[in-house]
Amino acid sequence: MGMFDTVTFTCSHCRKQMEVQNKSGPCELQTYPETAVPGEIAADITDKVVVCDHCHRQNVIVSALSRAVVCYTRPLEEEDHIFEGRVH
Ligand SMILES: [Zn+2]
Repeated sequence: MGMFDTVTFTCSHCRKQMEVQNKSGPCELQTYPETAVPGEIAADITDKVVVCDHCHRQNVIVSALSRAVVCYTRPLEEEDHIFEGRVH
């Protein structure tokens, strides 16, 4: 089993809690909240794409460099447009 650190953050689509694992940082098996991400880990998880377990949308981490994870939900293909249509 590899060592890794975990950063928790909020899905930008459904607001459920998600987490992203980082294997290239200090790897001390720590879990960091999205508002207190160590700079080293923040740099590594920027641009990562994480699929939400709840809404199955892809969250792209656009910036964690201010020690807070900012992400957006990637707009998706046709099935998702149908899904969106139903919601609205
Ligand atoms: Zn979600």
